[in-house]
Amino acid sequence: MSETAPLPLPVARSVASLRQTVKDWRAAGLRIGFVPTMGALHAGHLSLVEMARARADRVVVSIFVNPTQFGPSEDFGKYPRQEAADAARLAAFGVDVLFAPTVAEMYPAGASTTVTVGLVTDRLEGEFRPTHFAGVATVVAKLLNQVRPDVAVFGEKDYQQLLVVRRLVRDLDIDTDIVPGPTVREADGLAMSSRNAYLSSEDRAIAASLPSVLNFAATQLRTGADAAPLIEAGKAELLKAGFGAVQYLDLADAETLAPLAKADRPARLLVAALVGRTRLIDNIAV
Ligand code: AMP
Repeated sequence: MSETAPLPLPVARSVASLRQTVKDWRAAGLRIGFVPTMGALHAGHLSLVEMARARADRVVVSIFVNPTQFGPSEDFGKYPRQEAADAARLAAFGVDVLFAPTVAEMYPAGASTTVTVGLVTDRLEGEFRPTHFAGVATVVAKLLNQVRPDVAVFGEKDYQQLLVVRRLVRDLDIDTDIVPGPTVREADGLAMSSRNAYLSSEDRAIAASLPSVLNFAATQLRTGADAAPLIEAGKAELLKAGFGAVQYLDLADAETLAPLAKADRPARLLVAALVGRTRLIDNIAV
C-alpha cells in the first residue's frame, strides 16, 4: 500500500488523461490558461498562475524538470523536487489540474524530433548553455500541443526564453497567446528563483548585488549614457561584491536581443553570473 498522501488537486500523469480533461473543458466552451514550470514553486510562479486565472476559466500548471534543457555538467540531478508542497500551493491558488508527466511519458523511446529556434538564441544564454534553448523549445512545443491552451504565461525573469517561446509560437502557428509575467523579487531585490535554494547565507548576501547593479546601470542607460563603460563598471562591482564570474552583462534590443551601444530604442539589460557554484540570471527593462 502506498504511504503517499493523495494530492489536493487533480493530477494528470499521462498526456492521454490531460487531453481528456482539456477536451471536456473545450467542449463546454471554457477558456484554458496554462503555466509551465519545473516546480519548487515560489511567489513568482504563483503570480503567473494568478495571471492565467484572470485570463481563463480553467488553469493547467505543469511541473516537469525537463532533462533536455540541462547541459551535461548542469544541475538536472540536484534540481529541487517537492511535488506535494507544490501541489498544496497550486490547490490554494485555484489551479484546476496539475500536469506532472514522467520523463518516459514526455520522451518515449525513439523520440527524435528537436525544435530549434534561430537568431534570438545566438547570444547570451545561447552562448553559455549551447543546448539549452533546443531543449526549452522542444518541451514548450510539446506542452503547448498537449494542453492546447488559449493563453500561456511565461516570466520575464527568463527574458530570452520568453522571446524564444514567442518566436516558436509564431513560426509554428501555435494558436496560443503568450503573455509575459513581471519578475517577482525578494525584499532586497533578488529575483525569486528555484535555484536560490542552492545559496549559502553568505552567497545569498552576495546575490543581492545583482539587482542593485542592474538597477544602477539601467538608470544611467535611461539617460542616454554609453553602455560599454557602465557594463565594465557593473562587472567589476559584481566581482567586488563576491561573484566568482560574470558570464555576461549586456545591453540588447528588447525584441531581437542584438547588442546595443546605447539604449536608443526599447532595450533590456541582461546578466548571468556565478556565486559559489550557483548560476544566477536576471534582467531589467531599459
Ligand atoms: P521555472 O520553474 O524556473 O522553469 O519557471 C517557470 C516559469 O516561471 C517561467 O516562465 C519563468 O520565467 C517564471 N519565473 C521564474 N521565476 C520568476 C519570478 N521571480 N517572477 C516571475 N516569474 C518567474
